[in-house]
Amino acid sequence: MIFHVMTLFPEMILQGAGQSILKRAMEKGLISVDAVNIRDYTDNKHGRVDDYTYGGGAGMLMQAQPVYDTYRAIREKTDKDPKVIYLSPQGRLFSHKDAQKFALEDELILLCGHYEGIDERVIEEIVTDEVSIGDYVLTGGELAALVVIDAVSRMIPGVLGNDDSAKGDSFQNGLLEYPQYSRPEVWRGKRVPEILLSGDHAKVDEWRLEQSRLRTMQRRPDLYQKYLDDEDACNRQ
Ligand code: SAM
Repeated sequence: MIFHVMTLFPEMILQGAGQSILKRAMEKGLISVDAVNIRDYTDNKHGRVDDYTYGGGAGMLMQAQPVYDTYRAIREKTDKDPKVIYLSPQGRLFSHKDAQKFALEDELILLCGHYEGIDERVIEEIVTDEVSIGDYVLTGGELAALVVIDAVSRMIPGVLGNDDSAKGDSFQNGLLEYPQYSRPEVWRGKRVPEILLSGDHAKVDEWRLEQSRLRTMQRRPDLYQKYLDDEDACNRQ
């Protein structure tokens, strides 16, 4: 998977993606991150990429020209027709399902806005998906792009040391993950649940499913209702 990131802060992307599991995935050639500086493509002789908004109002807006020319430069490097994902607080909420779906692509282009955002005309021209990482406003799209790169990358076979480790993760089966414990057996007087020491794998799986259901019911009733509805639909088929 190649992530082409259109940004005014390429260092932020490269530093964020160049650590830990993503770093190893890059070394193994499973992913690569191509951070492209939008400022390199501006026609403005002073290197400007933003201007005032028509109609007035506070703040500056990223102009269409440098964004579009950056996009064209990326398209010239590839014979694919990648999705262009604009990270935006106005997009649909990015979900586990999106991560799974995007992981099936060979290449993705991620567009990071800054200032007040980006001229609407270039968004209309190039963007295929607009996604938000939550109902709050960030100063720029770079952290959001890193969130997407991270979540998508761990869906790519081989990126996690043990591919099974994604299988039990929250959202994978529509539930939050069960509580987990490591050594020692007793810590500050708290014991690891006895069943996990029993060696009975069937019983452990049963306990974990029960804990997952309980946890989801308590913490994310919306998710739990969806899980029950899906289960219902499956049973009716
Ligand atoms: N004026 C815009 C609005 O109210 O919708 C907000 C612009 S924000 C200050 C600058 C950039 O940060 C956006 O263009 C977008 O790329 C990014 N951004 C901000 N919040 C985000 C979020 N919740 N999810 C994804 N990207 C976000």
